[in-house]
Amino acid sequence: MKVLIVSSEAVPFAKTGGLADVCGALPGALRRIGIEADIALPFYGSIDPARFGTMHAGSSIPVPLGHREEAGSVDEIVGGDGFRTFLVRNDRLFHREFLYGTKDGDYVDNCERFTFFCRALMEWIRRTGRHYDVIHCNDWQSALIPAYLKTLYSHDPAFHGTGSLFTIHNLGYQGIFWNHDLPLTGLGWDLFTPQGVEFYGKLNVLKAGLVFADLLSTVSPTYAREVQTGEYGYGLEGVLHERREALVGILNGVDYDEWNPATDRFIAAPYSADDLSGKLACRAELLREFGLHDSPDEPVAGFIGRLSEQKGVDLIERAGEWIAGSPMRLVVLGLGERRYEDALTELAGRFPGRISVRLGYDNRLAHMIEAGSDLYLMPSRYEPCGLNQIYSLRYGAIPVVRKTGGLADTVVDADAFPSDGTGFVFSGYDSGEFTGAVARALEAFRDTARRDSIIRRGMTRDFSWDASARAYAALYGRVAAMAAR
Ligand code: ADP
Repeated sequence: MKVLIVSSEAVPFAKTGGLADVCGALPGALRRIGIEADIALPFYGSIDPARFGTMHAGSSIPVPLGHREEAGSVDEIVGGDGFRTFLVRNDRLFHREFLYGTKDGDYVDNCERFTFFCRALMEWIRRTGRHYDVIHCNDWQSALIPAYLKTLYSHDPAFHGTGSLFTIHNLGYQGIFWNHDLPLTGLGWDLFTPQGVEFYGKLNVLKAGLVFADLLSTVSPTYAREVQTGEYGYGLEGVLHERREALVGILNGVDYDEWNPATDRFIAAPYSADDLSGKLACRAELLREFGLHDSPDEPVAGFIGRLSEQKGVDLIERAGEWIAGSPMRLVVLGLGERRYEDALTELAGRFPGRISVRLGYDNRLAHMIEAGSDLYLMPSRYEPCGLNQIYSLRYGAIPVVRKTGGLADTVVDADAFPSDGTGFVFSGYDSGEFTGAVARALEAFRDTARRDSIIRRGMTRDFSWDASARAYAALYGRVAAMAAR
């Protein structure tokens, strides 16, 4: 079985969120169970190939783009670990400071950029005579490939026996463009219907993946159900409900080589479920770093994430005064929309010594927060899978989460299920419910025996890639069988 994983980001090359963690870890996990998986992503200006292995420049390929052709290449990095990473190169489109846009908005030519990405890969496969049994596409940036396989390239012998799996990592980002961009993609106007890629008069690139992929997946079983509802479907609930037989939820794994308090190179002292003593040093370092006073009886709560509506930042904002008046501290690390950055900065200004906010993207600090926090807050409005709550479990930072998506699938409420509980869960998107759950966590924190048993249970939960990779392998098998017919 040969699989090409196509994604707009993958660790260690380019990352803005969990998509990169998943697409970076999946090839290795698949290889461990005998599946050969290559990965393809755009060659962004921020990628320095020399850091990762030997670079082989690909030959120039003419890529159809609307009525013209644009030259590009697919370069290859062969890393020390034998992985093959393919980088789709076109400096005009990808040699920019950011992946998708600046703080002021998306790059205006994103439709062109990611159409080129998909079309270049199709042309490259066709010209080089490679064969993949499955092309595994992820999110809207690679969603045209399933449509190309079923339309423009359906009779091309290079793609006989090639099927596609499309994974939704976040339905909140759909790649919606005006209809005049349709000709760029090369897809015909016959597909510009509600059953095809039309979405209220516009072009919806994600829909191409949802409609044309052989099978669909999302990154948690709960999210797979939620996306079929009006509350979470962002207008695509109908399409997803129609394709429910083809839709599977597979929880993301996490990379415990990278996220393990016993071996973490970024934290003050190692610790484990058997010996938690190092966590105190991590906590002291975190408080120092964020300029907060230590008070051993008062837990430190952490929050890391993109500052977007999805992450429930407004609940934190609304609960800010309550948090500052409670026996706890709060540290926040995030980057994102200006309105949330401003609100959080204002909150930290009002409550110095109790709430501290760092605006930025800093992997080392993210590790320090997981290790130094006693509680971890994740009040997301929606959460396809979420990784930070899983890291928190392993780092002994008791998660307080909203019951949605992957949060519902990974955290068990310690009051509802005393012998299984690993955190505190609330349902409604409401600041009262949120602070109610934090209050329950504070109460548990005061009972040290109970606190330690919740922490230890969380730390020994296993969300490693092994099980997820097997679930993907089973889906690839189904896709390949469908494509062989
Ligand atoms: P999403 O993909 O929706 O952003 P996830 O929880 O699935 O959320 O994954 C987020 C990943 O990005 C985690 O690895 C998290 O540690 C990291 N991350 C998010 N924001 C920051 C930040 N400001 N600094 C460092 N790491 C961050």
